[in-house]
Amino acid sequence: MTNVQQNLESIKDKVNAASLRGNRNSSDVTIIAVTKEVSVERTEEVVQAGVRHLGENRPEGLKMKLDAINDSIKWHYIGTLQTRKVKSVINDVDFLHSLDRLSLAEEIEKRATSVKDCFVQVNVAEEQSKHGLSLEDAESFMKELEKYSRIRVIGLMTMAPNTEDETVIRTVFRNLKQLQEKISKQQLPHAPCTELSMGMSGDYEIAIEEGATFVRIGTALVGKEREEVK
Ligand SMILES: *Cc1c(COP(=O)(O)O)cnc(C)c1O
Repeated sequence: MTNVQQNLESIKDKVNAASLRGNRNSSDVTIIAVTKEVSVERTEEVVQAGVRHLGENRPEGLKMKLDAINDSIKWHYIGTLQTRKVKSVINDVDFLHSLDRLSLAEEIEKRATSVKDCFVQVNVAEEQSKHGLSLEDAESFMKELEKYSRIRVIGLMTMAPNTEDETVIRTVFRNLKQLQEKISKQQLPHAPCTELSMGMSGDYEIAIEEGATFVRIGTALVGKEREEVK
């Protein structure tokens, strides 16, 4: 049995402790409940428990949750977004965490009816299996985004490698933070880049110590019931 309320309390305690260790204010950290693996019912539980930010990674899952949940939710699209799916998704979400190519920016420009808050996805560890730009490419990409009036880059997003090695994970987060600070100092009107979307169930405490402002937490909060969703 997954007790969402209990999980949330325990996660909040850990967020507070990690914020202290990182000399941060825990109110600067937003918990996104990643509900991609769970049913509408389980998603409603997490909303009941007080979470107002939900994350999905497939258009179908997003639609299903959007249709069922009326509370004022901020919707986050956290997965790779195929260009042809932009039209059906972009105006339903408040934040896109996976901006990783100009063709996607182009399509957002065409389809979005208002300015969209986006994170540029960075593949800090340059893993084959993951999407996102390298740290080097992310900087020039940022400049190229200037011509898209419907895109506001509010920050950077990454996924750390799936490893037990805390040093590797911490280095990834630290490198992302460095790049975020470098970009935000440039005060680009289209890219304030003040936010850091980093940290999942296994590594959100490290991410917060290293500066995360959005953590994306799935299994540790809502469990997994993949088979019920399909
Ligand atoms: C699934 C997913 C998460 C949540 O992962 P958990 O390990 O279940 O917390 C976070 N970010 C992205 C991009 C994901 O795809």
